[in-house]
Amino acid sequence: MDLFEYQARDLFEKHGVPVLAGAVATTPEEAEAAARGMGGKVVVKAQVKVGGRGKAGGVKLAEDAQDAREKSAAILGMDIKGHIVGKVMIAQAAPIAEEYYLAILLDRSNRTFLVMASVAGGMDIEQVAHETPEKLVKVPVNSNDGLSKSAAVKIINDAKFPADIADQVADALVLLWGVFVSEDATLVEVNPLVKTSDGRIIALDGKVTLDDNAGFRHPDHEALVDASATNALEAAAKEKDLNYVKLDGEVGIIGNGAGLVMSTLDVVAYAGEQFGGVKPANFLDIGGGASAQVMADGLSIILGDKDVKSVFVNVFGGITSCDAVANGIIQALEILGDKAKKPIVVRLDGNNVLEGRRILDEAAHPLIQQLDTMDGAAARAAELAAK
Ligand code: GDP
Ligand code: MN
Repeated sequence: MDLFEYQARDLFEKHGVPVLAGAVATTPEEAEAAARGMGGKVVVKAQVKVGGRGKAGGVKLAEDAQDAREKSAAILGMDIKGHIVGKVMIAQAAPIAEEYYLAILLDRSNRTFLVMASVAGGMDIEQVAHETPEKLVKVPVNSNDGLSKSAAVKIINDAKFPADIADQVADALVLLWGVFVSEDATLVEVNPLVKTSDGRIIALDGKVTLDDNAGFRHPDHEALVDASATNALEAAAKEKDLNYVKLDGEVGIIGNGAGLVMSTLDVVAYAGEQFGGVKPANFLDIGGGASAQVMADGLSIILGDKDVKSVFVNVFGGITSCDAVANGIIQALEILGDKAKKPIVVRLDGNNVLEGRRILDEAAHPLIQQLDTMDGAAARAAELAAK
């Protein structure tokens, strides 16, 4: 999960990295109030998860609270590289003397962590790496050793930071390493890290990516999720522990096992070509233990998607045998009652398939159609969706 700048700022503050006062606002009025609270000049910064906001006009200096209100009104709603600005951060303005760059990231190709440091901050670091690679120092950090103060000092000296602030920058780097490790981040980047005219070192812009796989260790990270960017159906599915991804087609898909579901998407997309380009509406893997409740949860998510015109349930019975799945489907439809209105094509195969098919035949549910093959069922589901 990528964080907004204001969230990165808050994490930095929590771990002692020097930052300036900052507050988030969603309206010009809130921005004005925040700026008044800080007093003096402030910077109004678009909160979008994309770089280069400054160049795009999303970072503006404001003289006072009234000006902050006007600048915020101009920035809120702005489109920056396809991201609509819904929030601004009001930050205390800093008198900048110099801009530097620091980053810690997971270097996948070298299977290590990497610290990057440069005195050429404030600009696009890719450009620095390309045009003046000698100005970007890259040093791998072994996770067992971590980053000691002396190692940080060496990196900062190698990167030729001015002697008067080298020690402060090294301290900031060690604190950023603390953020990286204790928050389970895969990226912590500060651009720019600034030296103010009175010689202080401050992280002025932060970019943090948290490792979602470590989310279980960080219940507090849940609050950082951007609800406005999360699809409502995906949020509902997550609550039920379902592995669901919304797509933009019309055929709802339920399968067991990620590989089977992926190939089901392909087969439905292929079959859909004959029916005016019908496509899968989602990915949903209900996993190995496809109980009635899990099936009902999955069906209810999919039937709640207004784009869905038909549903394809594609299950290969393994640990959960086909008869259990068949009973699960019938019970799920009982649980859903009137909420289930769309045609459901079922293809069962694998463990105890004959009994599973018999159960569905016998139930003769008006919404259910059974087909024996995956291709045949995909074609029927696509045809029903195209009607
Ligand atoms: P980005 O363009 O998305 O990376 O946004 P930044 O937060 O890095 O801001 C871009 C540039 O705006 C920085 O490199 C600074 O030059 C300038 N800037 C940001 N905050 C301040 C501030 O508090 N005071 C001043 N004078 N300039 C700032
Ligand atoms: Mn920046």
